[in-house]
Amino acid sequence: MSIAEKIQLTINSPKKRICKFGILLSGSALSKSDKELILSVLSPDNENYSAVSNVQLSRILREEGFDISSSLVDRHKGRKCGCYYDASLGKKQR
Ligand SMILES: [Zn+2]
Repeated sequence: MSIAEKIQLTINSPKKRICKFGILLSGSALSKSDKELILSVLSPDNENYSAVSNVQLSRILREEGFDISSSLVDRHKGRKCGCYYDASLGKKQR
């Protein structure tokens, strides 16, 4: 397969590049209540939004053995990570 074909295949692939934080939040490593609380801190329409800083959230997760950097929290929260990138549209969602 040529480079062009491989790139075209990647462009056409609906597969998203879910970030490490997104994988953690969609996986089963965290309890349902932990995930809900983390998501509440990440959602702009929730009263808990930004009540915990990215650095604090990163530190809490790292203390529990999850390698999530504050910059990754920042990218995910700001929807700048692969979770919000739709390759089939070739642009960011929302
Ligand atoms: Zn993400």
